[in-house]
Amino acid sequence: MASSRFWPSSGVAIVIERLGRPLEQPIFDELAIIGVGLIGSSVARGVRRRKAATRIVLADRSEETLRRAQALVLGDETTSNLAGAVRNADCVILCAPVGAYESIGRTIAPALKSGAIVSDVGSVKAAVISALEPVLPTHTHLVPAHPVAGTEHSGPDAGFAALFINRWCILTPPEGVNSDAVEKVYALWEALGSHVEVMSAAHHDLVLAITSHVPHLIAYNIVGTAADLEQVTRSEVIKFSAGGFRDFTRIAASDPTMWRDVFLHNKDAVLEMLGRFSEDLTALQRMIRRGDGEGLFTLFTRTRAIRLGIVAQGQETAAADFGRRSADANGARLVRSSASDDA
Ligand code: NAP
Repeated sequence: MASSRFWPSSGVAIVIERLGRPLEQPIFDELAIIGVGLIGSSVARGVRRRKAATRIVLADRSEETLRRAQALVLGDETTSNLAGAVRNADCVILCAPVGAYESIGRTIAPALKSGAIVSDVGSVKAAVISALEPVLPTHTHLVPAHPVAGTEHSGPDAGFAALFINRWCILTPPEGVNSDAVEKVYALWEALGSHVEVMSAAHHDLVLAITSHVPHLIAYNIVGTAADLEQVTRSEVIKFSAGGFRDFTRIAASDPTMWRDVFLHNKDAVLEMLGRFSEDLTALQRMIRRGDGEGLFTLFTRTRAIRLGIVAQGQETAAADFGRRSADANGARLVRSSASDDA
């Protein structure tokens, strides 16, 4: 598990969170990771650091990505042959955009060995089960997972071993799946520093729709609207971008392929939450039009309490950290936080 140290200085504390020592016993003999981008390369780095697998095989469709993975020494073998990559794997983790899962599943299915665990990191879960369950052989175990951690960057250079420290990882095993397989995937994410929770895929999708998917949609929309405003030139948008807008631009810089797939594969939950969001937005509009200061104040007080709750649970720092890329190369995450957090 991760360890932390504090250095209180003039009003600011630096917290260094590190992955723990290598495990005494690897969880898997051979782990195959398909898709060596931000998340796949972070998993590979974390697994190597903690020796959670004896051997790591990395597969990707892009030769350039595989060359980078080799140069960064992220695994023991790199290949563009997905079926070959999984042949001896005890566990396979799909780390590509979810829209590619079904075709990847079909490609690897004939090569999977008996008892192999197939997991993933996709940001939606019901669609992942619908895509994979019908194409995977019955002698394998499907244990979907979603690490609720990330940045707006992509590719193998963007990953870092400490990405998952202190973050949640949600497992959504389909009913009746082998419990040993679930325990192994659970142990893997704990080894990467995550807190792990198990829930149904449908519940995951609803929760993530409001906490992650709709916020991303709002960010894409607000940045798109600002860019389209006729009277505001592009340079003014950039020049006067205040804190709020800047935060939105960071989120709106997230990978277009990944997020297109998220919205196409969590349609129902996102539309449900968007409907509620629109109703609340209309209510806010009314408050502004009617000069209902008390209504606005009450709402803003409630929302501030939610932010404070998130900081108190260690899921965010109180200090501004627009980049979120607070990590070093040695599997440590540097987190700035104001001294008042320590009280
Ligand atoms: P990424 O940095 O773009 O990496 C994805 C990698 O998968 C790329 O190297 C891509 O190759 C490769 N790929 C795409 N299609 C493939 C295929 N058919 N076969 C083999 N490799 C393929 O994306 P990411 O941010 O790591 O996201 C990966 C997954 O993690 C997604 O399912 C996403 O929902 C999930 N996730 C992301 C975040 C986040 O914040 N980014 C957080 C949690 C979970 P190309 O470069 O050639 O496209």
